[in-house]
Amino acid sequence: MEPMIRVVSGTTPLVLDSPHSGEQYPADFRHACELALLRQAEDTHVEKLYDFAPSMGVAWIEALFPRAYLDVNRNTTEVDVDMIEDGWTGEVETDPARLAKVRLGKGLVWRMLDDGAPIYDRRLSAAELQDRIARCWHPYHAAVARAVGEAHARHGYSIHLNCHSMPAVAGKNATGYPGMVHADFVVGDRDGTTSDPGLSQQLCEFLRSRGYSAELNHPYKGVELVRRHSDPANHRHSIQVEINRKLYMDEKSLEPNEGFARLQADLQAMVRMLLATDPRSPG
Ligand SMILES: [Zn+2]
Repeated sequence: MEPMIRVVSGTTPLVLDSPHSGEQYPADFRHACELALLRQAEDTHVEKLYDFAPSMGVAWIEALFPRAYLDVNRNTTEVDVDMIEDGWTGEVETDPARLAKVRLGKGLVWRMLDDGAPIYDRRLSAAELQDRIARCWHPYHAAVARAVGEAHARHGYSIHLNCHSMPAVAGKNATGYPGMVHADFVVGDRDGTTSDPGLSQQLCEFLRSRGYSAELNHPYKGVELVRRHSDPANHRHSIQVEINRKLYMDEKSLEPNEGFARLQADLQAMVRMLLATDPRSPG
């Protein structure tokens, strides 16, 4: 069977992961909507933007499967039970904020696109969903947990960047803020709970010093990957970084644009800055 994730181990305190850039559409996806529309859900090219990271000793984890097939940035409880033909017996989400995303069609398995169009013309079997969780979700989270654990064991602290991109303007079913014009970057630490807030602030300030606009925790705070793999009180910091796609690609053709190289150079400088930062020492 084809590998579903790509993992490169590191030698530094830094771990990067890209959960939404996968472009390998599995044969058993059996979606009904057009592939071109489905592909707009991808964080296309994020893995290429950060392709310098392993050569800097940064651990790297990447989903090769598409985000609409299974979203590893959701908990396994975030199942839209109405999508399951023969009923779901697994634990289901009770948190209202997370349930709201499931209702937008953006649970563990997506039900509809950002414009509200349905992805399937069928319901999924429970076995089908269990299979996606076993082949995608568990290996991905195990790889992130291992990389963060190894970085922390080596250095006494770890910094995990969860790497994403976002459309220039939010779709009508994408977020709680339909139509919002996004900043160049949105940095998320779940309101200071997944990272030392000073470190997240430092990251925002670095991006602004390079000429970008950067928002902190608005409209994206970070979701399951930063929540699950962080423990800032014990020097495990996780920060979500959303990049505005207009900076590096054409959102219709999905082709990289003339901004790609400059952005990549700035991301490399950002990684260098983080490698020189020990969040345990003040200032
Ligand atoms: Zn994403």
